[in-house]
Amino acid sequence: MSAPSVPPVPPPGPEITYAECRQCGTLIAGLDGRYSCGVCGWVNHHSEGHRPLPRAEDDIDHTAGGAEDNRLS
Ligand SMILES: [Zn+2]
Repeated sequence: MSAPSVPPVPPPGPEITYAECRQCGTLIAGLDGRYSCGVCGWVNHHSEGHRPLPRAEDDIDHTAGGAEDNRLS
């Protein structure tokens, strides 16, 4: 296990997908099957995404203890 190899599975992370807005028909880009139309404001349900939404527990930047992250760059 010395040579790095390309994993046989797609890398984790959002995948850009395209679809027509179901309300106004504009071709819109989304991530993992989730879309938000900038023309009419239509959005599809998050459950239509290709993968489950990340949970707070999965966020490595999640700060425990109930502290809010209020940094404003
Ligand atoms: Zn639309």
